[in-house]
Amino acid sequence: MHTAPEHNDLFDICIVGAGMAGATIATYLAPKGIKIALIDRDYAEKRRIVGELLQPGAVQTLKKMGLEHLLEGFDAQPVYGYALFNKDSEFSIEYNQDESTDYRGIGLHNGRFLQKIREDALQNPSITQIHGTVSELIENENQVVTGVKYKEKYTREVKTVNAKLTITSDGFFSSFRKDLSNNVKTVTSFFVGLILKDCELPYPYHGHVFLSAPTPFICYPISSTESRLLIDFCGEKAPKKEEIKHHIENNVIPFLPKEFRPCLDQALLENDYKIMPNHYMPAKPVLKEGAVLLGDALNMRHPITGGGLTAVFNDVYLLSSHLLAMPNFNNAKLINEKINLYYNDRYHANTNVNIMANALYGVMSNELLKQGVFEYLRKGGDNSGGPISLLAGLNRNPTILIKHFFSVALLCIGNLFRANKMSFTNAFRVIKDAFCIIKPLAINELRPSSFYKKNIHQ
Ligand SMILES: Cc1cc2nc3c(=O)[nH]c(=O)nc-3n(C[C@H](O)[C@H](O)[C@H](O)COP(=O)(O)OP(=O)(O)OC[C@H]3O[C@@H](n4cnc5c(N)ncnc54)[C@H](O)[C@@H]3O)c2cc1C
Repeated sequence: MHTAPEHNDLFDICIVGAGMAGATIATYLAPKGIKIALIDRDYAEKRRIVGELLQPGAVQTLKKMGLEHLLEGFDAQPVYGYALFNKDSEFSIEYNQDESTDYRGIGLHNGRFLQKIREDALQNPSITQIHGTVSELIENENQVVTGVKYKEKYTREVKTVNAKLTITSDGFFSSFRKDLSNNVKTVTSFFVGLILKDCELPYPYHGHVFLSAPTPFICYPISSTESRLLIDFCGEKAPKKEEIKHHIENNVIPFLPKEFRPCLDQALLENDYKIMPNHYMPAKPVLKEGAVLLGDALNMRHPITGGGLTAVFNDVYLLSSHLLAMPNFNNAKLINEKINLYYNDRYHANTNVNIMANALYGVMSNELLKQGVFEYLRKGGDNSGGPISLLAGLNRNPTILIKHFFSVALLCIGNLFRANKMSFTNAFRVIKDAFCIIKPLAINELRPSSFYKKNIHQ
């Protein structure tokens, strides 16, 4: 195949994938005079069911980067907390436990948000926009990555971009993570996503979590007239149309408050749903000179807690901070040191977000623990304030997470006692189940730095 270098210039950074991570880091770094090549195979607005609820932690990080204006002008909605439903009981938990804080999440159309970030990025003269599919990382004789090869979208020509640093942010189906990590991804379940139009939510401006059914489903506003319903479907294979229909009829409709019914019926009539796999993939990066992983290409967690963009923006901020501490991009060794620092620092920033997502999903698959979590949170005070600050991505202290997790297990044992079902075997089973959920997550996500670094989001 003919390979023609399109750009004779040497870029400071080449970004593979102008998605949530790639476009955000481009828009943050470009005004600082950094010369960037931004490559994506498709710049058209997409209708996606991912990344539609930003936790307050994600919003705070955008603010810290001076990018909060990117959330304006496309009918995004504030989200003030969560409402939980289980059997005949329901209650809400607010992100702000008192008037001393003013945190909020944001519900939005991911496609609109991404276009807004891209527009902002592409206004910068130091960014060169490239439409193309990257096929390869180019390496020199010393195995240092020096740029990428891509197929130009319109001419179908294969071209190259040369850069001092290549950021691979090509999302959950990344082609390049195998070159830059030992990551192993597993599919934990699938989300079936529907849009409910003109649905009056029982708790306006709140995320809704429904726990009565065998698998959870969640709902939150994404515009002033639309709410996203995400229905969890267990299994490693994508459900077929008939299976989805059966699942909704048996495991969703009977457990949904009646105000949702007309909108759900309408959504089902329009047959307008999308299916996405939910992955867990702990970050296991391998240092390689000249290249770094960012976003879902590096790390994924179950989306039940809406933690993905909290982690993405944490990573964008951390990687940028390390890169901006360099006088320029001329020292390859220094760039490599900065990448190493970013890979280490990001454990602390994302430990709780990652553990929380998969631990909560694990708990929801265990009837006794699920009931325990519901009762625990319903008590209010620190029982709900602590966990919501973790879920919001505002508190990075893992000891708080571990404390609440095992307090739930103790509450479950207390419940067994009260129901006269207490025996050594039953108590042991609760503790064992809790350990089985948390242990692999703790091994993957906890590092000594998780405990001693600054814990509260500022
Ligand atoms: C069902 C589901 C629901 C979710 N809900 C939430 C939520 O509510 N809140 C939240 O915070 N997180 C959520 N997430 C997670 C969140 O969406 C992701 O963490 C985030 O989108 C990752 O951003 P990214 O930039 O890594 O990937 P993406 O945003 O997917 O971007 C990847 C980009 O790379 C481009 N690309 C890929 N390959 C190539 C190539 N070879 N050449 C050129 N370009 C390429 C793609 O076109 C794309 O633009 C959810 C995830 C799932 C699966």
